[in-house]
Amino acid sequence: MLTLWEGLRRAAALALVALAACVTQPSLSESVPPLPKNERPERPKGHIVACGERFAVDAPVVLWTEAPYYDATSTTHRFNPKAGRVLAEEGPRLVLGRKERDGIPTLQPNSGDLALLREHVTQFVLHYDVCASSRRCFEVLQDMRGLSVHFLLDVDGTIYQTCDLRETCWHASQANGRSVGVEIANIGAYPVSSAAETLEGWYSIDEEGPFLQYPPWYGETGIRTPDFVARPRQRERVRGFAHGAEFEQYDFTPEQYASLAALSRTLSEVLDIPLEVPRDAEGRVRTDALSDEEFRAWSGLIGHQQLTTRKTDPGPAFDWDHLIQRAGAVAP
Ligand SMILES: [Zn+2]
Repeated sequence: MLTLWEGLRRAAALALVALAACVTQPSLSESVPPLPKNERPERPKGHIVACGERFAVDAPVVLWTEAPYYDATSTTHRFNPKAGRVLAEEGPRLVLGRKERDGIPTLQPNSGDLALLREHVTQFVLHYDVCASSRRCFEVLQDMRGLSVHFLLDVDGTIYQTCDLRETCWHASQANGRSVGVEIANIGAYPVSSAAETLEGWYSIDEEGPFLQYPPWYGETGIRTPDFVARPRQRERVRGFAHGAEFEQYDFTPEQYASLAALSRTLSEVLDIPLEVPRDAEGRVRTDALSDEEFRAWSGLIGHQQLTTRKTDPGPAFDWDHLIQRAGAVAP
């Protein structure tokens, strides 16, 4: 791993090379080329797991096999006093492998067939968690609601992977079999008539702008970065539409965008998921739900909001173009 100083030294050396090149190529003189991937200033690196194989992600990742053990394959409660009680009676909140669909054969539990997983998975579904922390989100999914999702993304940018990507998680109804999902920590979007009142219970404002302040009853947040202050990327609440109604929401943190971009890039490389989102004829991100036909044909990123009229996540504050640009694709 590069030290910061070593990174700066190499950046300076590369800049000199670029300047030397400018003598013969004046058109390049105004821009220093970006550092090659392996020369960028250090960020904690992690790995995600698909079909038993590890793939590098330019973001901190905690696997389900590591503390604090957000393990969606576990059949017991993780936090609450009923810990130890078997969850099986609460229904299929996760199925190992992927079931046969549309002529694509079953991906068996413990399969290492990454090519077959690529055939199954065509969508990366983005949610906000209405919990404001990944710890609370995992508690709600695992211990209370009998649901599951492959990734949790906390306010400090930590990604938790809860199971191998070959498993079918319960997070997006008709998309479960063909998707990988992430729950992004954010308290969510609210109708404009009630948004101010609701969001003031979760955010305070100081001279630097708004920041997430958990209410006194909240309990442990589980955030890994000590003393982390979660600030929305945009200072003002963002207003926007979902299924024809207007909502307001605070933006996600810069740390979340950075990690989500890194995760999206890796998923696009590993599973061939295009870095695009459903758009209308004018190129605007869709705020309604896709038709069944559009849904079946879609391959790429997608919000829960675009899967069903009952949902508004990841919400009007979520900046899809920012994500896609950071993930390395060119937005249309
Ligand atoms: Zn959702």
